[in-house]
Amino acid sequence: MQIYNTLTRKKEEFVPLEEGKVSMYVCGPTVYNLIHIGNARPMIVFDTFRRYLEYKGYEVNYVSNFTDVDDKIINAAIEEGVSADEIAERYIKECQKDMEGMNIMPATTHPKATEEIDGMISLIGTLIDKGYAYDKDGTVYFRTRKFKDYGKLSKKNIDDLEAGHRDIKVVGEESKEDPLDFVLWKPKKEGEPSWNSPWSDGRPGWHTECSVMAKKYLGDEIDIHAGGEDLIFPHHENEIAQSECANGVPFAKYWMHNAFLNINNKKMSKSLGNFFTVRDISEKYDLQVLRFFMLSAHYRSPLNFSDDLMESAKNGLDRILTAAEKLRDVITSGKEEPLTDEEREIVNGASEFVKKFEEAMDDDNNTANAIAAVFDLVKYSNSNVSSDNTKQFAEAMYEILTELTDVLGIILEKEEEAQGDEDYINEMIEKRAQAKKDKDFALADQIRDELLEKGIVLEDTREGTKWSRK
Ligand code: AMP
Ligand code: ZN
Repeated sequence: MQIYNTLTRKKEEFVPLEEGKVSMYVCGPTVYNLIHIGNARPMIVFDTFRRYLEYKGYEVNYVSNFTDVDDKIINAAIEEGVSADEIAERYIKECQKDMEGMNIMPATTHPKATEEIDGMISLIGTLIDKGYAYDKDGTVYFRTRKFKDYGKLSKKNIDDLEAGHRDIKVVGEESKEDPLDFVLWKPKKEGEPSWNSPWSDGRPGWHTECSVMAKKYLGDEIDIHAGGEDLIFPHHENEIAQSECANGVPFAKYWMHNAFLNINNKKMSKSLGNFFTVRDISEKYDLQVLRFFMLSAHYRSPLNFSDDLMESAKNGLDRILTAAEKLRDVITSGKEEPLTDEEREIVNGASEFVKKFEEAMDDDNNTANAIAAVFDLVKYSNSNVSSDNTKQFAEAMYEILTELTDVLGIILEKEEEAQGDEDYINEMIEKRAQAKKDKDFALADQIRDELLEKGIVLEDTREGTKWSRK
């Protein structure tokens, strides 16, 4: 399997540090608002990648954090007149609801920055002891120039960075030894959440959080670190500097970055105000459609959000769901006989599409081509399966389709839909019973025929009316 590694700017063969196991860290959202669909892109594409790793038999330790202490959270708290904790707790819950709607598997661990402060203090202490960091009046800075590899991920030259920084003076940061140095710990301002530390009552810098959570839950060296491409610099560059200087070993072997989700060809972002929340989209579409839309493009290509593309994602997804429904019909109403030779051959023939799917996913998580393979399979299934076939045959085809859609995180039959079906059937049965009581036999027959058309057979027994699928 090949992965495009931002560190080397090349597709590389994926070889995990430990055979059969993968450790993966994905930077999660800052929780001060409902997540927007730009934030959903890394969630969906890396969840799909994780599912594929599991499909291939790897045991995946998947860690994704919530950044629950940050200026934006504090500002939102001040605006609402509530505590920063309350804002963070609320939006973590909301984010989890959205993730469930998008069928994102829960991470192995979802650490929260505020629960990992001890580890951060310890990492900063190590960096100070090793001479990579220094305290100036309660603020701790990282000595960027001391890390010789600084810039290796973003391919930035440290002298160019220096020139760019010379004129930028950030208030309160005049005491830095070098304009390139970045903050690891900062003292609190009045009313801000803070923790005790050897340097000041204060809070950690954002970059420090991820280095610490990755170390604690995955180890000093990890296989894959992922996030949106805006994080390459400075966030991931700084994570590398902190982790490698503190731990003395290379941090992540592979760095994966998704391109932006744009709107009118501009990055969708909270600060630009040009965003839709996942919640907005859920009012119009099942969030599966959003997931399918995201996966229809390669994760490293910019993706422009539009109503048209969402509609075509909906149609594409419907094609798959309809084929699945047709297979389910044959599973219930097909012949109760063993597979025929011809059917067995058709099932074997489907492996061509599975192979195409795997080739696409092996090629740097190319979900766009993987979806094309699923469409091929759907077409093949539609033209080969009918009610004249055996149940076993439909079952075998359904299993193949499910294996692939499971990797994409697409649910072929939603439980609530199945449940909805049952609620509907029971409601109709009650209506028919009432019609019979009212001696409106025409209506009673009409209800029975309507259900029959939908493949539902009614049987009147002493215990009442029972139903089964044809
Ligand atoms: P944030 O809450 O801004 O820290 O972002 C959380 C994750 O969403 C990071 O991995 C970002 O890179 C990613 N992200 C934010 N905006 C977009 C966007 N418009 N398109 C794709 N990814 C994004
Ligand atoms: Zn991070």
